[in-house]
Amino acid sequence: MQTKQDIEKLLAGAGTMPNRRLGQNFLIDLNLMRLLVETAHIQPQDAVIEIGTGTGSFTEELAQRAGQVITVEYDTALAGIARVQLARFSNVQLFNMDVLENKNAIQREILEAMRQAQDDHGGRLLLVANLPYNVGSAVMANLILGPVTADGMYVTVQKEVAERMTARPGHAEYGTLSILMQATGTVRPLRKLPPSVFWPRPQVDSAMVSYERDESMAAQIHSMQIFKQIINLFMNHRRKMLKACVKFAQDDLVCVRHWPDVFEEACVDPHSRPEELTPRQYINIANLCFEQKR
Ligand code: SAM
Repeated sequence: MQTKQDIEKLLAGAGTMPNRRLGQNFLIDLNLMRLLVETAHIQPQDAVIEIGTGTGSFTEELAQRAGQVITVEYDTALAGIARVQLARFSNVQLFNMDVLENKNAIQREILEAMRQAQDDHGGRLLLVANLPYNVGSAVMANLILGPVTADGMYVTVQKEVAERMTARPGHAEYGTLSILMQATGTVRPLRKLPPSVFWPRPQVDSAMVSYERDESMAAQIHSMQIFKQIINLFMNHRRKMLKACVKFAQDDLVCVRHWPDVFEEACVDPHSRPEELTPRQYINIANLCFEQKR
């Protein structure tokens, strides 16, 4: 683990400085770093994915526990520092690239590495990271929807993202991420984090949150693709009535012939608003649409 002085020295040695645009706020409270790693209960047969290697401080802790660590850093200068810092670990695979191919997809090479790690080690696939604010939500959504899914996520995120992960129906923060997480597993807020635990200090508060996937819950969703389309269809118009949203149906949902039947069978009032539906109601609607499409 690296102290603030260690990180400052490494950056200065490489002639670089923290880049605010890339969310480079390094976690310098080593007790909190340890807490996050310990909460994940990483086992030697587990593979861990970390988004945002930074200078490799957190990665070292992960590498000492996991069978394999796949870590991704966009910034070439930081990736160069981390490569040197992590050279002694043979179980670390570092990708110097943007984790996302686009908002809806993790880069193919990274997906392939995760699949391979799952095959090689046979344990869980865990996301454990101090996530960059610009891609954190998209990464987590992708690791729920697949094609490769995480069994658990233990992350630090901006306070607003943490609120979205845990928000219940009817709350202002309730949205796509809340539905995806709560429909497939259990989300727990762990700690509130003031700006002072990072260097440089971000302008907003942060939080540590855990998510544990429950396969028996996830298996109730018959098609993740349709589930996602349903959430997008309604949540893109969260304050309209459900019956008014269906005219925006696209992709697989254009095949849905009779929306009033879908709402009736799903026991959902078509006059209600998307922000009021529970994750279970989203699953019911998506499964009925999936049946109609077959
Ligand atoms: N893990 C480090 C720590 O806390 O000590 C650094 C975490 S910092 C909050 C986030 C890191 O993610 C930065 O190093 C940043 O360069 C990197 N990053 C930002 N956007 C990224 C992206 N799209 N893909 C991969 N890495 C990214």
